[in-house]
Amino acid sequence: MSLPDVLARIRAAEARAGRLQGSARLVAVTKGHLLEEIRARVLTHGDFPLGENRGQEVRDKVREWSETAQGVPQPEWHCIGPLQSNKVKYLERVALIHAIEDVSQAEVVAEYAQKWGHAPGVLLQLHNGEAQKHGIEPERLGAVLSGVRATGLDVLGLMVMAPYEQPDEARRIFRETAQRAHDLGLAELSMGMSGDFETAVEEGSTLVRVGSALFEE
Ligand SMILES: *Cc1c(COP(=O)(O)O)cnc(C)c1O
Repeated sequence: MSLPDVLARIRAAEARAGRLQGSARLVAVTKGHLLEEIRARVLTHGDFPLGENRGQEVRDKVREWSETAQGVPQPEWHCIGPLQSNKVKYLERVALIHAIEDVSQAEVVAEYAQKWGHAPGVLLQLHNGEAQKHGIEPERLGAVLSGVRATGLDVLGLMVMAPYEQPDEARRIFRETAQRAHDLGLAELSMGMSGDFETAVEEGSTLVRVGSALFEE
């Protein structure tokens, strides 16, 4: 698929769900790809946020961008993967961290935010009920939300990953996550990847994290 194909599918899913056109944003997942490829496959089509999951890779790409982009402003960088506290130092240019899983991670981010003079927005990653090691158990969500807010960070929403190749299960997980976000008054929902982004948009995703679909021929 090309990026315009992915966007068309997002818009069609919004329409099926009776959602406002453009209410689901595409986060182009660019991990493992060179800036050259990212410019050719993503940024030629518009200013999309770029999702990375390793701190060093963000830092290196930010650096390479400043050295090669001849004054063109940095893209909007997002950190979508599991957060390691010792890698937070690389995330100065990141606008949104998608996968906060506990209060201690938020404390480290808040500490760096002080140092940087600006703070990234954060999402809390919910556990999806499968045999998956990442994410906050639903019964701890309220406590983690209060704890993260107490660090001063702005919690914008929830993130979840559905199990691969189980479409019905994915829809159920997306729907439950949307309900929890709604109950907590959280507006952003980071849900959906190459295999399930249309379902995620139908269930209310506001940030779809699509990687491989954008880069395969
Ligand atoms: C890699 C990754 C994606 C993108 O997955 P694709 O299947 O390539 O679209 C989305 N979210 C997270 C957290 C990822 O690590």
